[in-house]
Amino acid sequence: MSYAGGPNKCLNLQATSTCPGWASVLAGVWATKHKVKSNGLPLSAKTRTVLTSLAENGKADSSAFFCSWSGHITGDNATYRFEAAYTAENNINVRWLTFSGDDAAQAALLQEAASPECADMIFCVYDKPDYAGHGFGFSNDVPEYVEAIILTDKDAFEVISAIESRDTYQSEDWLIILTSDHGGKGTGHGSQDVECRMTFIAANKEIIPAG
Ligand SMILES: [Zn+2]
Repeated sequence: MSYAGGPNKCLNLQATSTCPGWASVLAGVWATKHKVKSNGLPLSAKTRTVLTSLAENGKADSSAFFCSWSGHITGDNATYRFEAAYTAENNINVRWLTFSGDDAAQAALLQEAASPECADMIFCVYDKPDYAGHGFGFSNDVPEYVEAIILTDKDAFEVISAIESRDTYQSEDWLIILTSDHGGKGTGHGSQDVECRMTFIAANKEIIPAG
């Protein structure tokens, strides 16, 4: 298990919301550094996501960000708007891609995973579970929510299958991580309730915490 919403000893540092959650996942720091304490705040210019830092320091030839919600890249106060401008200005090979919904993002992601020119680092956000949670409730007892999780699980399985089907798969070394930006309680999230803070990390390799 893992958790969102800031350190356990420092509650209310950041909301259990999408922008703070993914900023912590992608930058590896809490909001004291990345400054995204709630939705609608851009990532601090002093903080870079792993997509940019890997491409900038040469550990990845390129990175790609797949999403559909405008709050990530395209909106006025989008989290990664300024980082996207930074990578464009400095010719750092990161593609920031926004699609019309999960299914369009998934189709593009499957194409990416199958391509010989596939990015070395890929990040994709799926929104179906969040939308179902807000509409019907974030609970195992809610069929619509469970259905959204099943559909997203299927999407992730398709991507993993596409990666494993690559002609060059045997000579490649893929780390695949599935996680969530926050949990949920009732039909919402954002609070420090344990149900909202609780997340998970699933990976195809052992993850060793930084020492
Ligand atoms: Zn939400």
